[in-house]
Amino acid sequence: MSEHLSGGLTLGAFQRMILQLYGRKDAARGDAATFLWFAEEVGELATALRTGTPDELAMEMADVLAWLVTLANVRGVDLEAAVLRKYGGACPGCRQLPCACDPSEKP
Ligand SMILES: [Zn+2]
Repeated sequence: MSEHLSGGLTLGAFQRMILQLYGRKDAARGDAATFLWFAEEVGELATALRTGTPDELAMEMADVLAWLVTLANVRGVDLEAAVLRKYGGACPGCRQLPCACDPSEKP
């Protein structure tokens, strides 16, 4: 592997690592089946939130992020660029930092 993950990890580096690790398998699986895996991991995160240890919770969060990045790879989305475009400067709703949106809009 040409890129190793450590401190200072960027979202882009993580997405590229997942691509190197699983890209061929992910492309063959396709977006719909990959989304099902992502959704299953979200369910496991819900369970970890309710009954998991702190370590289990952390690992399930890592799985959810990994499957979201996988879905981005399958569909050719640069997730780091998307996050920066949407959240890079301020709240996408009110354009302020910190967010000043009315809590009734999104509590
Ligand atoms: Zn806002």
